[in-house]
Amino acid sequence: MLYQGKSKQVFETDDPRRVVLRFTDRATAFNGVKEAQIGDKGRINCAITTRLFAEVAARGVQHHVVDQLSATELLCERVEIVPVEVVVRSRAAGSFSKRYAVAEGTRLDQPLVELFVKSDALNDPLINDDAAVALGLARRWELAFLKETSLVVHQALAAFWAGHGIELVDAKYEYGRAEGRLLLADELTPDGARLWDAKTGEKLDKDVFRRDLGDLGDTYRALLARIGAA
Ligand code: 5GP
Repeated sequence: MLYQGKSKQVFETDDPRRVVLRFTDRATAFNGVKEAQIGDKGRINCAITTRLFAEVAARGVQHHVVDQLSATELLCERVEIVPVEVVVRSRAAGSFSKRYAVAEGTRLDQPLVELFVKSDALNDPLINDDAAVALGLARRWELAFLKETSLVVHQALAAFWAGHGIELVDAKYEYGRAEGRLLLADELTPDGARLWDAKTGEKLDKDVFRRDLGDLGDTYRALLARIGAA
């Protein structure tokens, strides 16, 4: 094992350019303060990730997934993760609502991009381009590419979810460096996005766990069934 994350494990393979990403049933929130095992979560998030990476690939976005190996495992290109998390928001929610005292659900005129430092030790603080460059987290051209690509990815995924009666409220995207290329990396799951039922506003993402709104396993199973990827 190369790396043990909060909800995924990364394994080496015989090929130094490839890794195996294994999705586990672990759910965490508030930087690991709250945690639980959610039956089936690994399988569901692996299936959703596979489906969504195919969706963004169809829009010409290069990503790290090579193949699905099993119900919970993906073969991926080995990348060096850029330690900057890119959040795209279509409506105010979560930390944005808190930081600026904007009611959750307030629609934003156009999707906006925020950058955060990927650091558990620092609790993923908000950062701007100048500080990220000054700290050596990313080059300026990389940040420009990350932000532009994230808007394309977000638009593609918003259209996908809208087709299933679901609104993509916000999401976090991560990228990796691989032999001079920047690839969309990590996962695309309801752990790292806010998804609201377009009609009822019901939350269909990890906020169900963070805020004790119901059974996360049932929520994720229903979500997978809705997109027909079960
Ligand atoms: P917020 O900044 O409002 O807490 O999060 C914005 C969006 O990015 C949400 O969809 C949230 O799930 C996602 N996000 C932000 N940081 C993280 C993180 O460290 N891990 C995960 N899984 N998602 C995150």
